[in-house]
Amino acid sequence: MADPVAIISQNLLEIRQRIAEAAAHSGRDASDVRLVAVTKYISPDLVPALVQAGARDLGESRPQELWSKVDTLKEVEVRWHLVGHLQRNKVRRTLPLVHLIHSVDSLRLLATIDREAAVAGRIVPVLLEVNISGDPEKHGFAADQLPAILPQLAESTHVAIGGLMAMAHRQGGRDVARHDFAALRTLRDRLLIDAPANVSLAELSMGMSGDFEDAVREGATLVRIGRALYEGLEKPRS
Ligand SMILES: *Cc1c(COP(=O)(O)O)cnc(C)c1O
Repeated sequence: MADPVAIISQNLLEIRQRIAEAAAHSGRDASDVRLVAVTKYISPDLVPALVQAGARDLGESRPQELWSKVDTLKEVEVRWHLVGHLQRNKVRRTLPLVHLIHSVDSLRLLATIDREAAVAGRIVPVLLEVNISGDPEKHGFAADQLPAILPQLAESTHVAIGGLMAMAHRQGGRDVARHDFAALRTLRDRLLIDAPANVSLAELSMGMSGDFEDAVREGATLVRIGRALYEGLEKPRS
């Protein structure tokens, strides 16, 4: 059986090259784009291989899955990102484990994180998830709802709102994805004009295996890559 570390290393190398090319193409520096390696397709026993291959920012979409995967890497320096929906009853257990929560999708969740962060004496970095494609099945703030709630965000003094996260429309193809990414950047630029002090919005988390180059061209600072990392592995989970 082929060595998973070798396979993932090769995939990671190719993805990093493609990110660098897309960045160069739009006059950006590749070091301004961080690759978050999404672990949801691999079992916990393969997570160390991902780290050995060179990934240092790891992302998980399900909180319980993140909890158990964190335990596989006790001695290693990695940054965990939660990229999927966070239920409010899972906030307390998740907060100490994560470097960044990409998926704050409601004011109620934001308030819960703020409260728990205050109890822990921390300021927790988060991104606001925007339902940029308007898909009724997706989580996230509606783009046109955000300007109105911006002043309320100042009340959450124990969160640092570092940017926006979105997924492109599922069926649209690359042109639609590119349009969605540009819309997220434009929204960010518009929100910045009136943003309170705890809202900096420097980060744009957008782009996955099928569309990360378009996202980088439109200003992504964090790309969340799953599938493309595991190509060639014997049996990645579906
Ligand atoms: C699964 C997932 C990804 C990675 O998707 P791929 O297409 O496998 O690269 C990125 N972001 C979120 C929120 C995800 O759930």
